[in-house]
Amino acid sequence: MELSNRLKALPPYLFAELDEMKRKKVLEGVDVIDFGVGDPDLPTPRHIVEEMQRAVEKEENHKYPSYEGKLEFREAVAEFYGRRKKVDLNPETQVIALIGSKEGIAHLPLAFVNPGDVVLVPDPGYPVYYSSAILAEGRPYKVPLKEENEFLPDLESIPDEVARKAKIFFLNYPNNPTTAVAEMEFIKECVDFCIDNDIILAHDAAYSEIAFDYRPKSFLEYEDAFECTIEFGSLSKTYNMTGWRIGYAVGNEEIIKGLLKVKTNVDSGVFQAIQDAAIVALRGDDSVIEENNRVYKERRDVLVEGLRKLGFEVEKPKATFYVWLRVNGSSIEFAKNLLDKAGVLVTPGVGFGEYGEGYVRFALTRSVERIKEALERMESALNV
Ligand code: PLP
Repeated sequence: MELSNRLKALPPYLFAELDEMKRKKVLEGVDVIDFGVGDPDLPTPRHIVEEMQRAVEKEENHKYPSYEGKLEFREAVAEFYGRRKKVDLNPETQVIALIGSKEGIAHLPLAFVNPGDVVLVPDPGYPVYYSSAILAEGRPYKVPLKEENEFLPDLESIPDEVARKAKIFFLNYPNNPTTAVAEMEFIKECVDFCIDNDIILAHDAAYSEIAFDYRPKSFLEYEDAFECTIEFGSLSKTYNMTGWRIGYAVGNEEIIKGLLKVKTNVDSGVFQAIQDAAIVALRGDDSVIEENNRVYKERRDVLVEGLRKLGFEVEKPKATFYVWLRVNGSSIEFAKNLLDKAGVLVTPGVGFGEYGEGYVRFALTRSVERIKEALERMESALNV
């Protein structure tokens, strides 16, 4: 069966390839320490699981859900934004539920991109920005995130004719994979750039709550952002709920409406029991978030300090549960070598785009003991 040209144009999905590399090693009997995929190892908090158990019993939850999500869920998202960010949202018009934020990100270009339109995508970046542009027959234009610019895009380097043809600009702070964060000055620059060029600013805030002695900002804290911005959020990382598949999009009403129109044609919303559990999560005690961050911070410190002892130059990230390590040279060679010699799996930076070359990403989703073991193995492997 011949694949469509759209699908043929997509690069292989990075994380599926990593799984395959790991599977082979495990079959060889290697005890792989996996820092590859960013999937929290900590469990979903008990009170959320218990609410899910109750919610599954309710017959009204067994029906088709509404496309946009229950009003109570959308109100809980708005409350969360009021509490954690300095943003007021109208839950009826400025919030919708998503089957995980990936779903919304992947569908957004279908709502707004015509064949040949430009989609600005950060490089390195979460691969879905690029592939969603291709699936909508748009033309992704890579905007480099370089270390010398603190992994923020240089807006002035985007040629005018590209900006004029652009429909969507994907951004993501706190950033995966570079761990960079966005301050208000930069947020304002991006919003003003998008307003001036009539571009939808699609801000992916999947790591908005994972931060250390630092409060990541919503782009909507800059009032003007409501003119052009949709912001994606997720319960996946905030509440260790990656498998549950629930997220949300908030922001400009027209953009939300466009995305909802795609969704009504391709999916039927989020299982209501999951929405009930998510309401309890969003309205719950923020100590759950603080505890996660305490755990990630300890791991970050052990890993970064260990890597420094091994001779790497690396900063302690302010946010996300990743460490972005400059290795120079080929990131695939580095990762393969580490897997072969130490049984340690990291993600080669080039998998996030050409400007990720020369770096690898560690996900802090392993215990302190395993991190220490990985460092010991790396020390022996690197000394051979
Ligand atoms: N955005 C970024 C930057 C991510 O790293 C991820 C997941 O790893 C997602 C979005 C998708 O998260 P979810 O679909 O689980 O909400």
